[in-house]
Formats: sequence, C-alpha cells, structure tokens
Amino acid sequence: MNLILHAFYDYDPTNYRPTLDQLANMLTGLNTYGLPVTEPVAPGKPLYNLLLSTALSHPLDTYALVCQHHLESLAVEISHHLISIPLHNLSDEQCLSMGPVYLRRLVFLHLGRTERLKKLLKDLPDGHPPTRQCDAVDQKRDLKGAWEAAAATLAWEANANTPVSLIQSTFLPVADRLTCSECRTSAKERIRKLIVDWTTVKSTI
Ligand SMILES: [Zn+2]
Repeated sequence: MNLILHAFYDYDPTNYRPTLDQLANMLTGLNTYGLPVTEPVAPGKPLYNLLLSTALSHPLDTYALVCQHHLESLAVEISHHLISIPLHNLSDEQCLSMGPVYLRRLVFLHLGRTERLKKLLKDLPDGHPPTRQCDAVDQKRDLKGAWEAAAATLAWEANANTPVSLIQSTFLPVADRLTCSECRTSAKERIRKLIVDWTTVKSTI
C-alpha cells in the first residue's frame, strides 16, 4: 500500500529500495484500485527510473513484469539489456507473464540481429584495381578467399550480442597476413565498415 501511495503521488520510492516482488505487487495493486499504471510509470517519473535500474540486476524478470502491464517504452528500453541473454534462459513463468506479443518481439530481436550480422559477414572487401603484383586472381584467392573463410567461422558463432572485439580478432589477423598493401587497406576498410554497420543495428524490440 505504501508503494501504491508513492506511485500515486509520484514520490520517489528509491530510498525504500523495493524488491522486484514488491514492485510487481504495487503494479497489480494500482490495477486493483483502478488506477492507470501508465501514469505513475511514465518516462522520467521516479518509478520508471526505479524499474529501469531494477532491470540492470533482474533484466528478464523486469522485462516480463513491465510487458505484463503493457508499459511499452519501459519494455523497449529494457529490451536493450536482453540482447546479451541467450533465449534458453527464459523460464515458462517469464514467457507466460510477458505474453505472446512481447515474447515474439524479444525472439525476433535476437533472430533479427543474428541474421543481420550473418548478412553483413557475406559482404567481401572491395579489393583494388589489378596491378602487376596483385591481379584479380590473386585478390580472389588471398583477400576474398581468406575473408570468406574467416567470415564462415564467425557466422557459426554469430548471435544477437556478438562483441566488436570478436569481429576484430577474427578479421584483423586476416588483414595482417596479406602481403599486398592495397589488399590490406581494402580488408581494413571492410572491417571498419562491418563494425560501424553492426554497432548501428537496432538493439531494442
Ligand atoms: Zn592486392
């Protein structure tokens, strides 16, 4: 009840450090009293921030809770913390609590990001105009062939949260092994572009 009053009057309940269960009871309580949950949990309100910080320690449970109450903007913000959590960690309870729509959005966030990375890995370095030391055949073998082999290995491990450091440690040695300096430049440019593209892929539901 105390928390419900806090919610109703927008007092900051952070000093009480409520547990996730208490927050869940509070949201249910607001419903029971016929008070709209969206108002006290609007962006920028103390309760909104409290749920966001709770998501740092209990991401899946907090996501399930806010989805259960259709708190859309909180669900979107919290989903960013879920890309690092493999979906097999989802419990039946959490799935039931968040409901099919938010569950589907979470699954597609993971699948979508993984597929996007696999697609990005398929783009080969551009290479350079043929020279006497390094013609088109050399580039196909040494630059593009080596890139494809490394990309295929990384594609096996690709997931929604593949770190930039893994992309670098996969492709930088490929670039460094090239004897042609123009091929090396082309490979490094492709790595740079790949990392930029990967870090800008949508990371929320
Ligand atoms: Zn070359």
